[in-house]
Amino acid sequence: MKKNLRYAILLFILLFVAVNEAIIEMRSTSWERPLIVHIYALSGDSRTASEAYVDALTSAHFKPMETFMNREARRYGMTMDAIKVEYHGRLSSHPPQPPSGQSVLENIWWSLRFRAWAWYRGWTSDKEHSDVELFVNYFDTATSTSLRHSVGLEGGLIGIINAFADKSYRGSNQVVIVHELMHTLGATDKYGVGNMPAHPRGYAEPFRTPLYPQRKAEIMGGRIPLSPQQSRMPEKLGEVLVGSFTAAEIHWPLDGDR
Ligand SMILES: [Zn+2]
Repeated sequence: MKKNLRYAILLFILLFVAVNEAIIEMRSTSWERPLIVHIYALSGDSRTASEAYVDALTSAHFKPMETFMNREARRYGMTMDAIKVEYHGRLSSHPPQPPSGQSVLENIWWSLRFRAWAWYRGWTSDKEHSDVELFVNYFDTATSTSLRHSVGLEGGLIGIINAFADKSYRGSNQVVIVHELMHTLGATDKYGVGNMPAHPRGYAEPFRTPLYPQRKAEIMGGRIPLSPQQSRMPEKLGEVLVGSFTAAEIHWPLDGDR
């Protein structure tokens, strides 16, 4: 009996969160004004290299994301800026890391804890308005060769990004941050087996002839297809664009001249 009650309460909370977020997502992708995106940095492993890297970050570091989004939005016929990125410095309290496993329940539980953490953090600290909050965890490349996955909560308008604390990863970190930002706005992944982008949705130029090699990556396709079996990671946002499938998902007008 007690267990049933607990499930009922959890279900009720989930329903409440889902309805609430559907409304927020609809409102945030109506594009009546630029969305304010706040970025916070964290040292993921407290190592000297990542600490120093995080301390040296400035808003200039995240500017290319704003330039990229606004350029792409204009290509789709938007007449104003899509986003405004503001770097809000370093945080000392860490958001809960997403679970490494595939368990649905664990993921739901984590996403609720992450929402609660973000809500509490916002409530107790800065009162400045933001539409989207992205938390970037930086890890030392000397001890971290692979990172836990990054997650942008669809409709939650919050995302956690795991990134490398190294200059050479600056461009690819930005690609990952924009990818998660797109998720928070309702965009879906467009890759399949072996992380190969799905055709045509995950291709930057799906109808180009010859089709291969592609010159750019689609932001939600994630990689640049070189052949039907090979692809590579984009090294900077200059190698990425927003495809029309993704643009439609985030409700860009689609009447630009592309
Ligand atoms: Zn994704």
